[in-house]
Amino acid sequence: MPHHSTCLDCKYFLRHYTKRENGSFVPTAHGHCYRPRIKLRQIESPACDKFLPRPDRT
Ligand code: SF4
Repeated sequence: MPHHSTCLDCKYFLRHYTKRENGSFVPTAHGHCYRPRIKLRQIESPACDKFLPRPDRT
């Protein structure tokens, strides 16, 4: 696991979005991780030992 990785780069992280009045979605700094169980994380949370890179960010 690279030391500089964060939850945002991990395949187990699902980012949260807010919906604007015009119907568009805006990404927030929050999300949740589902490995090994669901918990809240931030996009800049340091990666843990379960980290696997997201296929679209490698
Ligand atoms: S807590 Fe670990 S497994 Fe979960 S999203 Fe962050 S790096 Fe990935």
